[in-house]
Amino acid sequence: TSPDTDTRADDALRVLNRVFGYASFREGQQEIIEHVVGGDDALVLMPTGGGKSLCYQIPALVREGVGVVVSPLIALMQDQVHALTALGVRAGFLNSTQESEERRRVESAFLAGELDLLYLAPERLRVESTLALLARGAISVFAIDEAHCVAQWGHDFRPDYLALSVLQERWPTVPRIALTATATEATRAEIAARLGLREARHFVASFDRPNIQYRIVPKNEPKRQLLKLLRDEHPGDAGIVYCLSRASVEKTAEFLVQNGIQALPYHAGLDARTRAENQSRFLREDGLIMVATIAFGMGIDKPDVRFVAHLDLPKSVEGYYQETGRAGRDGLPSTAWLAYGLSDVVQQRRLIDTSEGDDAHRRRLGVHLNAMLALCETIECRRARILDYFGQTATSCGNCDTCLTPPESWDGTIAAQKLLSTVVRLQRERRQKFGAGQIIDILLGRQTPKVTQFGHDSLTVFGVGTELSEPEWRGVVRQLLAQGLLGVEGDYGTLVLTEASGDVLGRRREVLFRREPEKPARAPKPRRS
Ligand code: ADP
Repeated sequence: TSPDTDTRADDALRVLNRVFGYASFREGQQEIIEHVVGGDDALVLMPTGGGKSLCYQIPALVREGVGVVVSPLIALMQDQVHALTALGVRAGFLNSTQESEERRRVESAFLAGELDLLYLAPERLRVESTLALLARGAISVFAIDEAHCVAQWGHDFRPDYLALSVLQERWPTVPRIALTATATEATRAEIAARLGLREARHFVASFDRPNIQYRIVPKNEPKRQLLKLLRDEHPGDAGIVYCLSRASVEKTAEFLVQNGIQALPYHAGLDARTRAENQSRFLREDGLIMVATIAFGMGIDKPDVRFVAHLDLPKSVEGYYQETGRAGRDGLPSTAWLAYGLSDVVQQRRLIDTSEGDDAHRRRLGVHLNAMLALCETIECRRARILDYFGQTATSCGNCDTCLTPPESWDGTIAAQKLLSTVVRLQRERRQKFGAGQIIDILLGRQTPKVTQFGHDSLTVFGVGTELSEPEWRGVVRQLLAQGLLGVEGDYGTLVLTEASGDVLGRRREVLFRREPEKPARAPKPRRS
């Protein structure tokens, strides 16, 4: 190392100790900081909670001038500035929620060189007056947070982010650091291209969280299953339980309390005071359980969250990874547990069908859901699937349900054909559509009132599926839906054929299923080290 890099390292460490009060850098931080302090561009991929902020805050403090941070999360901007100010860092922000007097105060502090960090909403940089302001001050570094917004997935802010190429054009000598927690290889390439970061060095931290044990179980009686998990494996532990709806948050929290477990609800329908109070109790007290919608968690940094449980299917692997990532930040063994069933697939497909936005948007949501379903149905290592999704490789981990109790697979081609032909018969011959319940009754040859009413006992497929039980047939439906070999529509979850169904019916394609466990698989209790 040259004397130059030695000084950089000393300066960075001093700021880490004295300003932020931390003893040492986390994985990756030091290299990134030295690179940017040296004046070079960087593209940083780090999981949520990995410590991205320091990667630009420290260079801003070490280099001459003001660090300009572009962040789309206006709601978090104020908190960040407050937190920095409390540490004695001179920070300010400019966004649309501000009074003009406040804005003028920040602007003059910037011009006078009295700021270390200036946070900006991305749309500010499309305004010529903001660019003119920046041109009159001295800038040490540009940080572009949530850089994946420039790619398709973050289309909400996309136009603003695309306009950020102006930074390189007007300030070619100021180093830029783009940061993101959610980027596949394709997204990473797009970020580099769109932001003109062709020369930037890529820093890719590992997305693996080895202390988290991933488990995805079939959903039978979700609240009871959850209670068993908490009693058997996490008595007295702090954790988060995610539910899809506000109503199920309320019901689940009540259920836990009735069963002697300390739980609090959190969702956007609660008034701001209750929310703030529940959040601060969760952070302060030991062993509380937060039952919440995904409205909860952003920016929450509690090290000893021992489990994250999902009672409903997340919409994407990104979401699942981010939510489960709130477990075990202290590095101790923790559990990520998800209960998932046929109703989840039906419900999520329905949500996509009725979602706002154009077809392209719906298609994108569909792609994300399919990746999540593939993770649920895989018979391979869960961790390897997750890491593969983020463009990283891994071998079987030994700390997820599929590694601990390898699931069996079975050739479901014939079963799939039977089920799909039943749907075909009803759809083509009788112009009828039914949900999974009726189709399964037909396959099992059950003389229910509804079967008699519609004369379904005269179908040739009536009773041809008695080799499987009802739960097994539900598993077949769920996995066909997950693989896109069967579709679902309408308010009642009626089953319909997809383009790919024809390949199975025409025997051009074999189907492999994961065997439904007879009893819910139970992994050993995580050991405390
Ligand atoms: P990210 O933006 O990657 O999600 P943050 O920058 O918010 O993560 O950091 C997550 C938490 O880790 C914060 O509470 C932060 O103060 C803490 N942290 C970051 N770096 C260090 C470090 N070197 N030592 C101790 N704590 C750290």
